[in-house]
Amino acid sequence: MATGQSMWAIHDNLQAVQGRIARAAAAAGRDPRSVTLLAVSKTHLATLVEEALAAGQGAFGENYVQEAVEKMDALAGKIGEERTRALEWHLIGPLQSNKTRLAAERFDWVHSVESGKTARRLSEQRPAGMPALNVLIQVNVSGEASKSGVAPEKVLFLAKEIDTLPRLKLRGLMAIPEPGADDDRYRELKNLYEKLKSEFRFDTLSVGMSDDMEAAIAEGSTMVRIGTAIFGARKKIRSAA
Ligand SMILES: *Cc1c(COP(=O)(O)O)cnc(C)c1O
Repeated sequence: MATGQSMWAIHDNLQAVQGRIARAAAAAGRDPRSVTLLAVSKTHLATLVEEALAAGQGAFGENYVQEAVEKMDALAGKIGEERTRALEWHLIGPLQSNKTRLAAERFDWVHSVESGKTARRLSEQRPAGMPALNVLIQVNVSGEASKSGVAPEKVLFLAKEIDTLPRLKLRGLMAIPEPGADDDRYRELKNLYEKLKSEFRFDTLSVGMSDDMEAAIAEGSTMVRIGTAIFGARKKIRSAA
């Protein structure tokens, strides 16, 4: 990946992904602008984030708080603090309660809220000078291999609690359907989202990755999280941190 060609590769990959999003949206009778592209830069260096930024990408997803903060600081050293902060940073990986402070201080969104305890800590630790932290409840749709996420029947209870927290803004739901999951998984998620949407003023359904963005967009995704199709294969999977 780290060749002189990478800049053009990332530019071209972003265009290809935007094309896939537009075609999937059109096939579902949806406006392509109703689907936001989150570029998942986990395990990749700040230079690649900079290249994606140069190609017009402004929202980035990271899995590990510490890695993300180091990357933000490295990027700030290159393009300046102000431009780095103007980007949108989304935490999409599992969040341990000892990492909530740093997450609350440095991210704009957290997609992986799955307990009242984590939500309360994020709200308490969100700095006063910043806007409310945007959060999504991670749902474990049936048949998912991952143990992450809240069971669908428990989402309403957690949503009600988050709704009372002053420094959080509940925007919707997130899920990671198992690779190759059938369309029922996506439909189940969409139905839950639609059921809660008006009560909680949801506007974000975060679902779909490099391999399943079409299926996710067909079932209402408003935010796809794309890593491999933009930045290439990751070297190795780190354990959650
Ligand atoms: C790594 C990751 C992605 C991106 O996956 P790709 O298959 O590389 O597009 C999206 N969402 C989450 C939660 C991830 O951990």
